[in-house]
Amino acid sequence: MIKGALNGFTTAWKGLSLTLKHFFNAKADKTIKSVEHSGYFDQAEGIVTVQYPKETIPVPEVGRYQLHVEINDCIVCDLCAKICPVNCIDIEAIKATEAIGKTSDGSVKRLYTPKFDIDMAKCMYCGLCTTVCPTECITMTSEYDRSVAHISDLNYKFANMTEAEAEEKRQALEQQLAERQAAKLAALKQDNKE
Ligand code: SF4
Ligand code: SF4
Repeated sequence: MIKGALNGFTTAWKGLSLTLKHFFNAKADKTIKSVEHSGYFDQAEGIVTVQYPKETIPVPEVGRYQLHVEINDCIVCDLCAKICPVNCIDIEAIKATEAIGKTSDGSVKRLYTPKFDIDMAKCMYCGLCTTVCPTECITMTSEYDRSVAHISDLNYKFANMTEAEAEEKRQALEQQLAERQAAKLAALKQDNKE
């Protein structure tokens, strides 16, 4: 009987001490620590109940979550689409008739982007697209809880041109090419006469 009572007491104490440990740890700081911080791997300690969405569990800085494209900094080089192992990046480019500005890192922009879609339903979160981008405009954000009503809504669209604007740029390019071709032919005819 004494042995049974002792066993019951020990078991109850074990359970209670675990509860107390979590109770006091729950006061732990929940701010996100950088990967260089000595307590980086302990940062989930102390979280008992997360008052989501007011509170969220800290995510690692180097984590791979939803992709974002800062389209104004994109030079439409297509490297991200080419390296993507699952072909979930779909980019359309239209050559501009002249330089159209610079990205925030000073790269000259010469192409318009009427289409820049990333299908996050297919994405395998490898992060390769973010490593090849020369202007670092495609990044993995810390957003992990975006939910959608339909799977097609996971095809994120980053282009900021309307179809009418895209059509106008296509026509301007065609006209420039036609003018250049006509000028070349005229120069050839002139050479043949001389
Ligand atoms: S993270 Fe990987 S799979 Fe996803 S879009 Fe980038 S390259 Fe493609
Ligand atoms: S690699 Fe970067 S700059 Fe090139 S198309 Fe992709 S997002 Fe744009």
